[in-house]
Amino acid sequence: MRSPLVAGNWKMNLTSAEGEALVTEILHLAGENFKIDVVICPSFLAIPKIADVCRRSRIKLGAQNCFWVDKGAFTGQVSPTQLAEFHVDYCIVGHSETRGKFGKLEIPESTVGLFSESDETINLKLKALFYQGVTPILCVGETLAEREAGQTDSVIEAQLRGALVGIEPAEMYGLVVAYEPVWAIGTGQVCDAAEAERVCGMIRGCLGQIADDETSENIRILYGGSVKSDNAAELFRMPNIDGGLVGGASMVAKDFYQIIVAAE
Ligand code: PEP
Repeated sequence: MRSPLVAGNWKMNLTSAEGEALVTEILHLAGENFKIDVVICPSFLAIPKIADVCRRSRIKLGAQNCFWVDKGAFTGQVSPTQLAEFHVDYCIVGHSETRGKFGKLEIPESTVGLFSESDETINLKLKALFYQGVTPILCVGETLAEREAGQTDSVIEAQLRGALVGIEPAEMYGLVVAYEPVWAIGTGQVCDAAEAERVCGMIRGCLGQIADDETSENIRILYGGSVKSDNAAELFRMPNIDGGLVGGASMVAKDFYQIIVAAE
């Protein structure tokens, strides 16, 4: 039986103090009685402060990215070992904003891909995180152009296969996968619940082929992309959607709390 999970991705928002105030407000609303797993993914710099708050609650801590090597001459990177020092339980990997072009930001064509993760680096990150006991939240999803070309399923299948090369089913057992259609992230354009369920079911089938049925039945699959308090319940009611990866709405205490309630 998979327990629901709701993760908030704050991206490059909120100072430590603002983050602390937000988590305190969420805890005040929830009375610390979550029946599901709730994860907050602050920026690296806010992790120590939010780790302190989380330690006194049932909220789990997540990071938004990591490097795959333990230590060394990798300027500006953060390793899974450094995350584990702050009791980070989860780490987002392969978010569309780190795979390629950043969200809605207009950046020069020459910088597209500058931040990008390939299937190969995503695979290395997953292995490094599993080694440290940090649960990866692996993001997959198609762009609008890929959807319109009828490539949604094949793109996602390739992302899953690339990310999971050489990872044993026993390790994959605790994995979290987030289906995040790129065109739905930060746009207010949520994927229709029936279609989100179809894709999440396809993802589960694919995980069954890569690992085995028991493993794929245990893996939690989240939907992400403009999840709000008024559409969360319909999405989370779907049998293959085990919760959400939430960006914008996770930074408004009342909205995030309502999304948590919808998942419960
Ligand atoms: C995200 O950052 O993964 C995301 C889904 O953002 P939003 O909820 O704002 O669309």
